[in-house]
Amino acid sequence: MTSIQRPVVETTADVPENWLNIAAQLPDRLPGLQRADGQPVTHAELAQLYSTECARIELLADHYSHDHTIPIPPPVRQEYRKYRPTPFCRAKGLEERLGFSGRIYFKREDCNPTGSHKPNTAIPQAYYASFQGLSELVTDTGAGQWGTALAWACHNMGLRCTVFMTRDSFLSKPYRRYMMELCGAKVIASPSNVTAHGRTLLEANASHCGSLGIGMGEAMEYLADRTEARLALGCMSYYAALHQTVIGQELVGQLGREAIVPDILIGCVGGGSNFVGFAAPFLVNVFTHPDLPRPQFVAVESANVPVLTQGRYEYEHADAFALTPRVKMYTLGRDFLPPEIHAGGLRYHGKTPILSLLVNKGLVSPAAISQEKAFHAGKLFFETEGILPAPESSHAIAQVLVEVEIAMHHGRTPTIVFCLSGHGYLDLEGYARALDLDSAPCRSDLEPVATDRLR
Ligand SMILES: *Cc1c(COP(=O)(O)O)cnc(C)c1O
Repeated sequence: MTSIQRPVVETTADVPENWLNIAAQLPDRLPGLQRADGQPVTHAELAQLYSTECARIELLADHYSHDHTIPIPPPVRQEYRKYRPTPFCRAKGLEERLGFSGRIYFKREDCNPTGSHKPNTAIPQAYYASFQGLSELVTDTGAGQWGTALAWACHNMGLRCTVFMTRDSFLSKPYRRYMMELCGAKVIASPSNVTAHGRTLLEANASHCGSLGIGMGEAMEYLADRTEARLALGCMSYYAALHQTVIGQELVGQLGREAIVPDILIGCVGGGSNFVGFAAPFLVNVFTHPDLPRPQFVAVESANVPVLTQGRYEYEHADAFALTPRVKMYTLGRDFLPPEIHAGGLRYHGKTPILSLLVNKGLVSPAAISQEKAFHAGKLFFETEGILPAPESSHAIAQVLVEVEIAMHHGRTPTIVFCLSGHGYLDLEGYARALDLDSAPCRSDLEPVATDRLR
């Protein structure tokens, strides 16, 4: 999608030069990765799973333990320049519709290649793998945003890409699968016959709908005998959150140029990467500049997958078969089979450890939004701003509506900024089902045209 020129704040002149290493700037240490026996995971072990560099980031090894900023490799910045800096806009139409005297702004990650914030981490992951001489990245995907972003990034970095896509999405949402295949990726419906774990599940239930945890487990098993392949994760890893900090850094510049001070920052959370990346500089400021006004941070999850609002904060595996290391996070348990919700990106059973820590320390407030509310908010945004949000992003917009209602009730006029993590033009079927657009397909409720008016 091309960006629409609007009466907005200017974008930054250039792409940030560094990522913000937020874990090195928090007073609390990020709990480390553990093996199933409770021992810490070593770099040698993790480098079998991820590219060497991503393994270093994940373990906060070497300079990642203390450097506040991490230089972005020039080839990655070069790719970012294809679409960054992304636009920063004011939602005037929405403000007017709500009769709100405060301000609503949004950072647009929907204009990115493949339509979401995910290329921000897919590009560096593919770059590091190719730099290391690997030949293939493997991953799991739900609705397909992550798989699409990775397929595109791999194509540009000369890597093969294999994607285990949850079976229900594979069958019901073919468009993103087509996009992955256009980039040369191999897409496999999960559970699949490719792995022993997949075969066991299919024997028990031939039409098993799959889950992200199962897809990740299959990807792990697939990797086991392929020395030139590694796993790439879109949401649950610390490296993904680190790469997403380009969003927040651009935002700081864009806000600063217009002297806008945000009172409330809102983002949706699946794994937590877009939220953390969007809010990172403001979260860091809480510790480095305690004198500055502190915005309210709201992380919005699906009420159908209430990880932050109802889950436990404990060590758990990211995949369903306990093949990945354990991380400390809010989770509903690796066996949790989320209900089929349209916002597939919000279906993870856990939240990334960095966000979990921030929520546990009370710095970030979690909120849960129902699917119905999210789709109505997405519709309202489309009507007033002309942009159809991804169902995931619509959860953030629904929370904006909640905050506006509270503010108006108290006669306040806050400045609200949210992250528009992706567009919804490939999710129209979800909108149609949620808003019942097919209920009168033949429009038989319309008056027939009178024949005497026909010429
Ligand atoms: C994947 C996705 C999400 C959720 O992932 P996070 O890691 O929480 O950012 C949100 N919005 C869109 C559009 C997505 O594709």
